Amino acid sequence: MDLRKELAEDVDGKTLNYCFSCGMCTGGCPSAMMTESEYNPRRILHRAVIEGKLEDDIWLCTNCYLCQERCPTKTKVADLISLMRRVYVKHKSIPDFIKPLVVNLGACGFTQHIGELENKRRKRMNLPEIKHTSEIRKILKKTGGLYE
Ligand code: SF4
Ligand code: SF4
Repeated sequence: MDLRKELAEDVDGKTLNYCFSCGMCTGGCPSAMMTESEYNPRRILHRAVIEGKLEDDIWLCTNCYLCQERCPTKTKVADLISLMRRVYVKHKSIPDFIKPLVVNLGACGFTQHIGELENKRRKRMNLPEIKHTSEIRKILKKTGGLYE
């Protein structure tokens, strides 16, 4: 696997070369705060450039895009991490700790289980009922991402 080459095939992936390791992205990253710096987007990008390596920590990103907003060089940090996940799945498959989320997605259309109990709570808070959707299940079936 040539990570840099695979990332460079995407227009956002090319922005990996813009990064000069200033760390602004990591300074505002909620995942970095919650994991006491175990997760570090600056380090992930640096590792991709220098070593061309993918580690499991890329799955700790919440896709909030704060890093991308803060980056002074307009490096597409969050998009790059999403692209890295795509490359990861292509070469290594979905990690075990992600599979339950994909099962939920196939079952109800959400990564978290939404059932009677959750809807009762929502009703108490005057929130509308969430209905299951089968559309995502169809996509997962077609793309081979459905886990039973
Ligand atoms: S991605 Fe942007 S904010 Fe993060 S280290 Fe690189 S240049 Fe700095
Ligand atoms: S998108 Fe990911 S890497 Fe960027 S700030 Fe949010 S959690 Fe951190």
